[in-house]
Amino acid sequence: MHEKFEADLRDLAGKGRLRSLRSRAGIDFTSNDYLGLAESDELKRAAAEAIARGVPVGSGGSRLLRGNHDEHEALENEAASYFGAETALYFGGGYVANFTIFSTLPQQGDLVVHDELIHASVHEGMRRGRAEAVSIPHNNVDAFDAAIVRWRAVGGKGRPWISAESLYSMDGDSPDIAGLLAVADRHDGMLVVDEAHATGVLGPQGRGLAAAFEGRDNVITLHTCGKALGTVGGFILAPRTIRDFLVNRARPFIFATAPSPLVAAITRAAIHVSRTNPERRERLARLVRFAGDELFRRCNVTPSGSQILPVIIGADRAAVAVAASLQQRGFDIRAIRPPTVPEGTARLRIALTLNVDEATVASLFEALAEDMRKAA
Ligand code: PMP
Repeated sequence: MHEKFEADLRDLAGKGRLRSLRSRAGIDFTSNDYLGLAESDELKRAAAEAIARGVPVGSGGSRLLRGNHDEHEALENEAASYFGAETALYFGGGYVANFTIFSTLPQQGDLVVHDELIHASVHEGMRRGRAEAVSIPHNNVDAFDAAIVRWRAVGGKGRPWISAESLYSMDGDSPDIAGLLAVADRHDGMLVVDEAHATGVLGPQGRGLAAAFEGRDNVITLHTCGKALGTVGGFILAPRTIRDFLVNRARPFIFATAPSPLVAAITRAAIHVSRTNPERRERLARLVRFAGDELFRRCNVTPSGSQILPVIIGADRAAVAVAASLQQRGFDIRAIRPPTVPEGTARLRIALTLNVDEATVASLFEALAEDMRKAA
């Protein structure tokens, strides 16, 4: 009955691209729990306190019906104030928040210009939306500008939407956000910055790399809760009119059960920790510097400068083999292969979190250096 699916799975296996789920094992160099909050006493206490004061586990319905809870609104107020935007709208995840932005906001006749490495959730949104889309070479501000100029020259009359991440999830690098905003300003466009991997980690008080531009009329940011904040969910930070429009027009908001009020309460506590306690962020920054030096010294790989350290291996099978060897030594490192990354750039994605210390990082890169010598 499922021959087509079976054939597809065989095809993936033939290419060395079959994926499967496995249980957690080894030292965490893979998760996005950058600040170590997911399993922290602070968030466990916040959960217990929220339960003790009667916060419900489930919302029971859409936000527009009975599912709206004070905890959602308290969280959104806290998020808007923390990130510095006029309003926040909370979703069950960053994926659905990105999908919502790009399927709902750019209109027919508009143009979305996006970095070529933009997250899959933006692609899904664009596919469902009505605007044209153009892919721009990675981090090339001038190419964003040129694409909009070309579009205007052939009669493009709508609004350009510039889509970029502030910290790319598989490369760990960042664009010139001020430069992108200048392009948006020049063309009466909107700038949408996905801060998923910067939330809680980068920028003043962990408010992200677009923090200086929050609150502007033509800036929307997306922040996620499932990475440094240690819970699950996503925010769209935007001017009030846009929030009101989404509440009225965004199908993923209107027709989905509201996120758990309990998780909303815990996430508010996570924002409070991030906002008031710079110590975790500073510890992570020290670990990032240490790891970058070790990666360069031992493996001759130039570090990204962020907590996401890609080590490009190239061929899919070679990347999988190096990852497997590290896993055998007790390090939880995953190979990232196409289509998540471009063909020929299969890599290890090493994520640094406060779940590891410097000695562990040093032993990882010692092992990696040995495996890379063997693979060469
Ligand atoms: N944007 C980026 C850049 C991401 O890396 C991710 C997570 N993989 C998302 C959005 C989706 O966020 P979430 O995991 O909260 O759904």
